[in-house]
Amino acid sequence: MNQLIKERLRSGGPLLLVPDAVLLPEGVVELYAVLVRAGRFAAVGPTEELERAHPQLTALRLPGHLLMPGFVDSHHHLTQSFGAALAFGEPSEIFRRVWVPLEGALDEESAYVAAKLAALESLRGGFTTVTDAGTRADVDTDVVACAARDAGIRCVLGLICDDAGDGADSRAVLERAERHLAAYGDDPLIHPSLAVSIPEAATDATLHAAGRLATEARAVVQMHVNEHLAAVERSLLRHGLRPLEHLHDIGALGPHLLAAHTTLLSPREVSLLADTGTAVSYNPVASAWKGNAVAPATTLAERGVRFGIGSDGTRGDGFRLTDAAEFAQRLTYGLATGDSSCGAGWTWLERATAKGADAVGLGGHTGVIGAGMAADFLLVDVSTPELALSWDLPWELVRRGNRDQISAVFVGGRLRLWHGQPVDWDGLALVRRAAALARTAVARAPITRAHPTSTAARAAAARPRTAAGPVPAQHAPARNRSTAQ
Ligand SMILES: [Zn+2]
Repeated sequence: MNQLIKERLRSGGPLLLVPDAVLLPEGVVELYAVLVRAGRFAAVGPTEELERAHPQLTALRLPGHLLMPGFVDSHHHLTQSFGAALAFGEPSEIFRRVWVPLEGALDEESAYVAAKLAALESLRGGFTTVTDAGTRADVDTDVVACAARDAGIRCVLGLICDDAGDGADSRAVLERAERHLAAYGDDPLIHPSLAVSIPEAATDATLHAAGRLATEARAVVQMHVNEHLAAVERSLLRHGLRPLEHLHDIGALGPHLLAAHTTLLSPREVSLLADTGTAVSYNPVASAWKGNAVAPATTLAERGVRFGIGSDGTRGDGFRLTDAAEFAQRLTYGLATGDSSCGAGWTWLERATAKGADAVGLGGHTGVIGAGMAADFLLVDVSTPELALSWDLPWELVRRGNRDQISAVFVGGRLRLWHGQPVDWDGLALVRRAAALARTAVARAPITRAHPTSTAARAAAARPRTAAGPVPAQHAPARNRSTAQ
């Protein structure tokens, strides 16, 4: 699309947009238009009808483009963006060895830049909403809110309420939680939420109280649940129950809870999720990169469990995440049972948009192209070789869609990105600043990695093998090897 269209999209006034097609919950429709006004879709309907109803507006035709909902990332850690590759090849529970040390090395500026960098990557990947599970950096959570707001992305913003450690003041934790939930009342982009890192990180009383506060504020409590074998086994030893069973036992499950990962679910735990209305973030790329298992998402959908799809900060690309969601189900469940449909495409598109919004507490607010909803949407170029010969566009978007095909990203009715770059701030300058700050932060952080870099691993693999001998240095656990190399 040309500059003229860009300028009209930026104009700030009401927009009567006429793309080639619109992706509605029930499927793709043609000859449809949308009216965007004051941050929302004021009307969605047949083009003729909308043009007749609004003769004062000049329709803006968007040839070759599909208008679809922006993606909702249901699990992210915005302040971890300085080191995605630090976790590559690592065994599970890397939060202890990589993420907590890295976030601990951030100051206010680096936390802000890290969060804004993550937001930019997410916007470039077509996400209009990200769900932040709470920073562990020693900065005010509002730093993350400012970064998201300045980048122009919608953010469900978690505040960590862990209080099980030595010297933790549970009352102070809950008072902070109350203030956080009340702090963003009229903010168009920031939606406060509470977070507990893992069930054992908070006392039972606080898990309970956080649930009550969140329910009253119509917010969600985010928690990593049943992600790694080690955590499941610790819970069994401590409570005689698996983590999800324990949460049920103390009354902490319910529609307010957004349980991240749930990769290791017993059949009984699937029933607990379904019966209590607890929501889940299915994180397929995180499973592949650092997990012990893949959540049984196709089964969860069938059983009526509420869930969205999350990146967990692995990479901010909505189309690739949606593809991974299907792909992981196919490899782990579909192939073994001969289920060649495996969600029929639409399941993963819907979970990445409307159902994801529901899971993170924004159902009825975003995730759908419909009158009254926030105008969070993408203009996707469907005239490319990958999508032009279309026979089944929703499924093609899952398998063949690509970040490069996103011409424009709108959040809250405002054009935020045009062909991958922010329209009202300098994205390239931010990336340069992030690169400089990341080097300092990683050098300061007491990170322990068990795996060498790709190049070092290749060199080790190429060395002649002997029957016995010392372990090559690259295979021995190393403190902060990332900076040593
Ligand atoms: Zn996480």
